[in-house]
Amino acid sequence: MKKIYRVYAMFSGGLDSILSVIYMKKLGYEVIPIFFKTPFFTPENAQKAADENGFELTVIDITKQHIEMMKAPRYGFGKNMNPCIDCHGLMFRELSKLMEENKIDFLISGEILGQRPMSQRKDALNSVAKLSSVKDLIIRPLCQKLLVDTKPIREGWVKKEEMLDIQGRGRYRQIALAKEYGIKSFSNPGGGCVLTDIQYSIKLKDLVEHNMFEEKYIKFLRIGRHFRLSDNVKMIIGRNSDDNEKLSKLITDEIIFKHLEIPGPLAIINSKHKLQKNEIELVASLLLRYHQKIENEAIVHFGENHKLENSIQVTKMPREEVKKYQL
Ligand code: SF4
Repeated sequence: MKKIYRVYAMFSGGLDSILSVIYMKKLGYEVIPIFFKTPFFTPENAQKAADENGFELTVIDITKQHIEMMKAPRYGFGKNMNPCIDCHGLMFRELSKLMEENKIDFLISGEILGQRPMSQRKDALNSVAKLSSVKDLIIRPLCQKLLVDTKPIREGWVKKEEMLDIQGRGRYRQIALAKEYGIKSFSNPGGGCVLTDIQYSIKLKDLVEHNMFEEKYIKFLRIGRHFRLSDNVKMIIGRNSDDNEKLSKLITDEIIFKHLEIPGPLAIINSKHKLQKNEIELVASLLLRYHQKIENEAIVHFGENHKLENSIQVTKMPREEVKKYQL
């Protein structure tokens, strides 16, 4: 009886990863798509793509390993704070740990030669492979015809002539395949990763520069307006009630500021020390700047962990002063 090879697929939910899964399934492989989750890329898009295409998605949280890797990526960052080569290397390494136990024969990914400047040049694909212990077990079905043979090809588990030779930034061959396979919707490559976003990268860089590159601070970065008040004090203000609610849910031991009687924005403080009086004044007056219903002066309450036991009377920060704190 012909052996059915079991394959892990790195799955982002982008078109290339959908295509690589469908392509290998059609060739008769048992493909198990895996999504790696961190604060920078969350599984919603991938789950939607998996559901639409009838895949059973496995989600694995690699937050801790990813944050560690980002402190010193061997191949550096791309245009923004995206360490794509090391990121892919890490994902392959994590997959390799699970292979034996789950009887997986080899790994696939939807990378395309030369499609993205940082991670998909030929030397970059080699670097990704070098960073993982399974470099000889990786197949890239969409461009493997153009790459050096790995074990699955040498051993005849995968026929090289059945692999594709897509390369470059043009997307017409992928779009044609998507039509052929009846794929309903898909996002852009890398579309779900905030590390490629310039505004997000500015906020992340600020954490790195202030020794705050930790999960407890990173988790706030996707929400609200962000301000750097001093080396030790970072402030986040909700833009609307939706933001306020999301921020509230994330609070553990942070100090929060808000006006108790008049509904308005919530401010969260990430601080490495106990706030000084001048810092409390600064935070409260900046918060009032974003309080539409307060003219000039008001009492702002604050305290740890939703206990707003303290208060301070301040005036609204002048509009022109805000800029110097804004991230
Ligand atoms: S775009 Fe984001 S998730 Fe994708 S490889 Fe780069 S850093 Fe990793």
